[in-house]
Amino acid sequence: MSSAEYDVVVVGAGLAGLQCARLLAARGLRVLLADAKEKVDRGVHTTGIFVRRTLEDFALPEDCLGPPVRDVVLYSPAGRALPLASAQDEFRVGKMGALYRRWLDDAVAAGVEWMPSTRYAGMEADGAGSRIALERAGVRRWVRARFVVGADGATSRVARGLGLDENREWIVGVEDVFRGAPGDGAPCFHCWLTPELAPGYIAWVVSDGEEMHVGVGGHASHFRPTDALRRFRAQVAARFGLEGRTVDDRRGGRIPVGGVLRRIAQPRGLLAGDAAGAVSPLTAGGLDPCLRLSALAARVAEDFLSTGDPAALAPYDGARFRAHFRTRIALRRALSGVRSPLLLEAACAALRSPLLRPLASGIFFGRGSFPDVEPRVDIRGSSASNALHPHPTPTA
Ligand SMILES: Cc1cc2nc3c(=O)[nH]c(=O)nc-3n(C[C@H](O)[C@H](O)[C@H](O)COP(=O)(O)OP(=O)(O)OC[C@H]3O[C@@H](n4cnc5c(N)ncnc54)[C@H](O)[C@@H]3O)c2cc1C
Repeated sequence: MSSAEYDVVVVGAGLAGLQCARLLAARGLRVLLADAKEKVDRGVHTTGIFVRRTLEDFALPEDCLGPPVRDVVLYSPAGRALPLASAQDEFRVGKMGALYRRWLDDAVAAGVEWMPSTRYAGMEADGAGSRIALERAGVRRWVRARFVVGADGATSRVARGLGLDENREWIVGVEDVFRGAPGDGAPCFHCWLTPELAPGYIAWVVSDGEEMHVGVGGHASHFRPTDALRRFRAQVAARFGLEGRTVDDRRGGRIPVGGVLRRIAQPRGLLAGDAAGAVSPLTAGGLDPCLRLSALAARVAEDFLSTGDPAALAPYDGARFRAHFRTRIALRRALSGVRSPLLLEAACAALRSPLLRPLASGIFFGRGSFPDVEPRVDIRGSSASNALHPHPTPTA
């Protein structure tokens, strides 16, 4: 028999799981949050760049964000620069460890039971709910839940357990973080189109005056990420003052870029964040989609649990969200095939022309991210500073 019973078991305490858990507990549900990690701020894998749309719509704690960034420079394979400046604060690099700790504290204060160092190992149907196997220090225990949230990242095992869709298309990113690195001037997001070091994606230096992140990303089958990062660092070290500096943190992981999965919910549970494929296929940004989809996940889960009506899950429809990404999925597939520096050089030359420059600005500064799935929601966690503003925004 089960040793414990919950309304919701949330697997994974990344941004998606923390967001879901604290919102569900704030609505009075009995929530267990389990993560394989011992501490939420260990093994952070994201650069943590939040875009303007997220910063406007979600009141992220100010002390968990770096200084604003307004400038972007896009470099062609031959190194020709296309500077793009915005009149507004476009990006802020999250201090992700601090943010995860803050949201975990909020979740626990709202009543979430936190189970660190605990790995999800499988589940089976049990009446209308599930029995979930959790392993800690080699010891397996079973808990029962009316509903399961799979927020266990890009290679979700919960997806399999629930019989929902799984991610199949990826890029891989790896980066080094330098704290207190001055950079080469004003806060700036530098992006290189370099098919050799970053096939199908970009190499980047983002520098906000407090931290510098130097990374590469691309299709795993076409490059060796750590080797590419070493070469890229050597290429930019003198310019960004990195010679002789020690790396403070290395981050990396898979980024699902196949678009939101179609089947992401069923009456025993749902998927959120990377587990649901909620990442922009073009930019590979996952933080904004993760926050929006998790807020909706919390609402539909609560509606479903309070009514018992499967129709309450209908708004959580991956196929509907996926439709918003058709163009970006197509562009991602086209980009994946471009490995000719000459072709990219020509594309960059076109983007530098006055006619197409607004397109480049639109890619970096546009508000096209995840569709606005929860335009009217005003869900508060235990602290008002973490409120999600009821702020309607145009859809992507
Ligand atoms: C190198 C890199 C850079 C990125 N940079 C950006 C960026 O700058 N901006 C942006 O918008 N997006 C970025 N992304 C994407 C973004 O980071 C992700 O989309 C987002 O963090 C996903 O959050 P999540 O909570 O869904 O998943 P995760 O953060 O992966 O959290 C999943 C959690 O589940 C836990 N877990 C996994 N399996 C189990 C299990 N069996 N049992 C228990 N726990 C388990 C893990 O320990 C982890 O804590 C980047 C991604 C990478 C890899």
